[in-house]
Amino acid sequence: MVDITDDLTIDTQLIEAAISEKTKVIFPVDIGGWPCNYNRINEIVRKKGIIEKFKAESEKQISLGRILVIADAAHSLGAKYHGSLVGSLTDITIFSLHAVKNITTAEGGAICICLPYPFDINDEYRLMKLYTLNGQNKDAYQKLKTGGWKYDILFPGLKVNLPDVCASIGLAQIRKYNSQILVDRKSVALRYQRNLKNYKFFQLPPLQDDNIESSYHLYALRINDISEIERDAIIDDVIQSGVSVNVHFIPLPMLTAFKKLGYDTNDYPIAYRNYSREISLPIYPQLSEAETDYICEVVISAYNKIIG
Ligand SMILES: *Cc1c(COP(=O)(O)O)cnc(C)c1O
Repeated sequence: MVDITDDLTIDTQLIEAAISEKTKVIFPVDIGGWPCNYNRINEIVRKKGIIEKFKAESEKQISLGRILVIADAAHSLGAKYHGSLVGSLTDITIFSLHAVKNITTAEGGAICICLPYPFDINDEYRLMKLYTLNGQNKDAYQKLKTGGWKYDILFPGLKVNLPDVCASIGLAQIRKYNSQILVDRKSVALRYQRNLKNYKFFQLPPLQDDNIESSYHLYALRINDISEIERDAIIDDVIQSGVSVNVHFIPLPMLTAFKKLGYDTNDYPIAYRNYSREISLPIYPQLSEAETDYICEVVISAYNKIIG
């Protein structure tokens, strides 16, 4: 694990020192819909010294011959990065279609494969499909077709296949994603930006620059010069006014499972510093302008009450 920068994504300056002979994958996370510094990450895994350090331990790792990059793009469906869309930037990109994400299938996700030669993308796709259904070479529909009842189990897989009913919900949403859902999310985020930009005690999230555009998944507001306790008090006050806010995220070293592995929050000061003063304001397409304005008023008044 390495620390983040102030844009809440992985600090690429810390990556090289964290790479050992055991490193097989780098797993950067696009927080709030803001893509990581993929140009730099892709450069690092292709550096001569880093490739020389890489110790392949499986057939796939031998074929790749370097560290794999898997982007956690759970938040960043539709985000743009230097003229490309998230999904095409790394070897593997994983989108979440969980209920709280920009589009949903209730549960589920989507994986984009951009593996280089000699990988065949269709072969990798078929292999992943086998994993989702117990390593079984036929699904129920294929077995139903005349003469198709025989099947095989090729390896012990998982049972994580996306039901057709759920997929149909996702398909309906993705058709209107660019023209409607994403546009509506963006207008909520920009309204927050306009309403809050003149308050010096707020640090606004990055949404767009010359090369990058967010997918507007979260509005990760940060408040300058407050403690974690003060942030929690502001959240309590905001919730009293009927506004549901959240915090993204509790740094992993603060969670029991990671503490048990020996991780220490003190080693990730930027993550802690940003977490302790962060409040995510709600974004969803149906949030009206009046509601967005009300949320801003509530947050400003909570700040004034607790801090001012
Ligand atoms: C939601 C989320 C996930 C997990 O997605 P699931 O579809 O629930 O597995 C992973 N990473 C981030 C950053 C998320 O917000």
